[in-house]
Amino acid sequence: MRVLAFPLLVTLLLAPAAALAQTPAPPAVTVPIFWRTQAERTDYRRTADYDETVRYCKRLEGSSGLIKVQGFGRTGQGRELVVVVLSKDRAFTPEQARATGKPVILIQNGIHAGEIEGKDACLELMRDILITRTRAPLLDSAIVLVVPVFSADAHERRSSRNRINQNGPEEMGWRYTPVGLNLNRDYLKAESPEMRALLGALFVRWWPHLLVDDHTTNGADYRHDLTYSFNHGPTVPRPVERWLLEAFEGRVVPRTAEMGHLPAPYVDFRAPNDPASGIEFGSTLPRFSVGYSTLQCRPGILVETHMLKPYATRVRATYDLLVALLEEVNARPKALTAAVAEAEAEVAAGARGSVVALTSALTDSVVPFAFKGVRTQWEYSDLIGARVPRYSSTPWDTTIALRRSLRPVRTVRRPAGYVVPQEWTVAIDRLALHGVATRRLARAWRDTVESTRVLAWTPGARSAEGHRALEVDEVRLERRLRAYRPGDVWVPLDQRGALVAMHLLEAQAPDGLLRWNYFDTVLEPKEYAESYVMEPIARKMMAENPDLAREFQARLQSDPAFAASPEARVDFFFRRSPWADPELQLHPIDRALRAPPADALAR
Ligand SMILES: [Zn+2]
Repeated sequence: MRVLAFPLLVTLLLAPAAALAQTPAPPAVTVPIFWRTQAERTDYRRTADYDETVRYCKRLEGSSGLIKVQGFGRTGQGRELVVVVLSKDRAFTPEQARATGKPVILIQNGIHAGEIEGKDACLELMRDILITRTRAPLLDSAIVLVVPVFSADAHERRSSRNRINQNGPEEMGWRYTPVGLNLNRDYLKAESPEMRALLGALFVRWWPHLLVDDHTTNGADYRHDLTYSFNHGPTVPRPVERWLLEAFEGRVVPRTAEMGHLPAPYVDFRAPNDPASGIEFGSTLPRFSVGYSTLQCRPGILVETHMLKPYATRVRATYDLLVALLEEVNARPKALTAAVAEAEAEVAAGARGSVVALTSALTDSVVPFAFKGVRTQWEYSDLIGARVPRYSSTPWDTTIALRRSLRPVRTVRRPAGYVVPQEWTVAIDRLALHGVATRRLARAWRDTVESTRVLAWTPGARSAEGHRALEVDEVRLERRLRAYRPGDVWVPLDQRGALVAMHLLEAQAPDGLLRWNYFDTVLEPKEYAESYVMEPIARKMMAENPDLAREFQARLQSDPAFAASPEARVDFFFRRSPWADPELQLHPIDRALRAPPADALAR
């Protein structure tokens, strides 16, 4: 059983019913006009474009010695991506940051560029740390990295009609990159230049102890202005889960309630828009930001402000959440760094054969949640052909079911490591990009390993992210003697990147390279037999093997499509003949039973 965050529930149940989310009063310190953001100057009607956003960051840099604006790559359209580093110790490189021993917090905004209050909240927060200094103590025991806009090209596809469900600003960016990729599906497969820059030049150099990913919701109307999510349960290293439950949900979330907000776990109703169906609070796959960071042994927090609240309210909610989070990290910096270190040690120490959960699912167990909704009439619409909610502004408080207890679903036994034949360059590229340590073989090496035969799979019915992703339905592990060549790649699992390696390289991994079509060629038949060549061989095979003859006859009886297809009949015998391709449907990455001898590995 998992420990549930009862302190949060108690806090929310005790919150006064009249505590409607409101825009809090402006900060007590008057901000000089020169330092007011475009959002502040326009009463939160507008938000700065990308160039103005970067200029604002560089003005901060020009006025304070505690900040550096650094490029970390380019977008598809050639814009420079920037990260703003804030450090009281002027620790502006990963090495200097590590030497301070302080936790590094990465706050990213605009991965969905239309959901942009995180950017405005961060511009204000950085100014209040560095210039007005009302928030200066937030840098005492933490180093803060801010990506003001991650999907920068999409941020410049500005329109008032990019987000039909959203209440301001007047113009906002777009959800997808110019080539039609959703960056918040691209973490593990890492196909976009933006994601490759974020991972390769930022994440695996700085190794932030915490990732914060700022968004705006879609979905139902309700009074909660600030919702959040994080991965928990059997797919998450326990020290990371503990920090998220105790520090974030146990202290930071209640603190935002004290600041005047109505926080809630991300409101994902079991039935669309219907609170009576209860909220589902599960874990996400590593294509998503917070699914990815937990694979890397780091807590990740998804912040989702409510789309129907005014832009000013959403900026304030994000700002306050970031303040509360940084207050927590400053009060207990070692709790965060220790959680990450313990998670890394736990992941690296996993034994061969131990069971690793690749996916999880909610159980039927529920806890009560004090939902702050609005009175709603459900009316049948003959236009839509379904009931449609009609929301009022009248508060409606109720207790609903919150499902958040998770059980493992797809599990694998951990190998000693993997061997990647050097020709599978996509696997080698992704391992390096994600910071997984590997070694090349210096000489030939032969060993008995486990290979994964993919017996059944279903390509996605619809294209998603430019793929028809494979659902792997059935696999079989086969022990085989394999010969490896100098230059093939050994992937040990006694490292912090073990979960990332498993999620890339296991056939059943929900975001693995097989799933995202990178190994489709091993599933495609190569050689085949002509009917007139196979026919006499098949007769001989049946004469020598009565079991095979019975299997063939039974298949003819039970499978009319098979019986009607001469090609399928020929293939039936070809696959069982000595001419069959022994590598067909074999996942190309092997699971090792032991490490190669040290002298087989390149220095
Ligand atoms: Zn989003």
